[in-house]
Amino acid sequence: MSEDRREAGGKKTPDRFPWIIPFSCEGCGDCIEVCPTGSIVLVDLGKKIDKAWITGPDTCIGCGKCAQACVVGAVQMTSYVEKALQRYREKTTPE
Ligand code: SF4
Ligand code: SF4
Repeated sequence: MSEDRREAGGKKTPDRFPWIIPFSCEGCGDCIEVCPTGSIVLVDLGKKIDKAWITGPDTCIGCGKCAQACVVGAVQMTSYVEKALQRYREKTTPE
């Protein structure tokens, strides 16, 4: 049996993580509504369309509900979890 992947603080790291494609996001907010942890939000970029982004990468549990909710495929679940975490920690907005 494989060991749980854990971060330094002992928190379990999800096996999969949402990867948002801002170009495809239409700002409908469906992903935000279904997220049980409030980890994904719509960011106002001062443009016509707000864009979804993971502003709480450390609270995301990788449940995939955001990806299921997105009808345009702007959220895909990736197994490159560390890469995704790094992306959201470094970039706090979609732009
Ligand atoms: S994977 Fe789950 S917890 Fe993480 S942002 Fe999506 S809906 Fe929220
Ligand atoms: S469900 Fe998809 S299109 Fe709608 S806000 Fe979320 S990522 Fe954007």
